[in-house]
Amino acid sequence: MAWPPGSELYLIMATFHYSSVRIDRVEDYLGPGFVPEGMFPSIQRWMLEAQGDWLLPNFYLPDIDRLRTSVHSWVVRTGRHNVLIDSCVGNHKVRHAVPSFHMRNEPWLERLATLGLRPQDIDYVFCTHLHADHIGWNTRLEDGRWVPTFPNARYLFGRTEFARWDARDPGYRATALNDGAFEDSILPVLEAGLVDLVDDGHQIDDLLRVEASPGHTPGHACARLKVAGSEALFTGDVIHHPIQIPYPQVCSTFDDDMARALETRMRLLDSCVDRDVRLFPTHFAEPHTCKVVSAPGGGYAIDWRR
Ligand SMILES: [Zn+2]
Repeated sequence: MAWPPGSELYLIMATFHYSSVRIDRVEDYLGPGFVPEGMFPSIQRWMLEAQGDWLLPNFYLPDIDRLRTSVHSWVVRTGRHNVLIDSCVGNHKVRHAVPSFHMRNEPWLERLATLGLRPQDIDYVFCTHLHADHIGWNTRLEDGRWVPTFPNARYLFGRTEFARWDARDPGYRATALNDGAFEDSILPVLEAGLVDLVDDGHQIDDLLRVEASPGHTPGHACARLKVAGSEALFTGDVIHHPIQIPYPQVCSTFDDDMARALETRMRLLDSCVDRDVRLFPTHFAEPHTCKVVSAPGGGYAIDWRR
């Protein structure tokens, strides 16, 4: 596959090895997403044209004028623990506000099984934030009841994030996009006693640390893996689409606080640029990960090579 043009190093495979650590992607959705302005109100068409050498066909579908997107989990096997980062949309969830999320029936568990992992093998589930497309596989439907998908896992949620989405709180501010998500994907694991609320700096594993990254949601957090001089940064929705790397000022309509989200995105890009830090976002289409380098005229550019 000749993508990006001129690159012989491009590989479709999404398994990464860092010393004894293995990282795999588990897909829940890959395909058309929003119209560019529907996702990013401030995006300009010239931005798409200027990035056309890598944007097509993986990240933008000109025939239907849609961004192309993915919803996936990352599984990190550190050697000591199996950590699932973000749990996608899930099956059988009633999501009237987002037709593509509504009542899905995807072989996500079978995809996990192809990696040699059963649900009971997962030690930690870490959700970067509690939007419906990051918590769905926390639970599955069994005899009409939502039960934890990963019975042996500790589910790690940010304390601030949990407080934002706790629908039992009298001050809870509902959103159409997350309607019902707390009840079907958070509450059942809470009631099973599997939840730990964590703060900035929490060590999931001696190699994997939680980093606060507020803005998209108030308690959004990334996870940073440091091993053998390299880093893998699981960025959740700090960057939804790679167009936000050359143009970080492009904010998502789903950001709770766009100014804070931009501040966090700039800080994150600054922490990665020209360093051996690979980004593992939740919604990038193939090849799903990248590094950040300085652009010739200033700002940031994307290095898609493995
Ligand atoms: Zn998301």
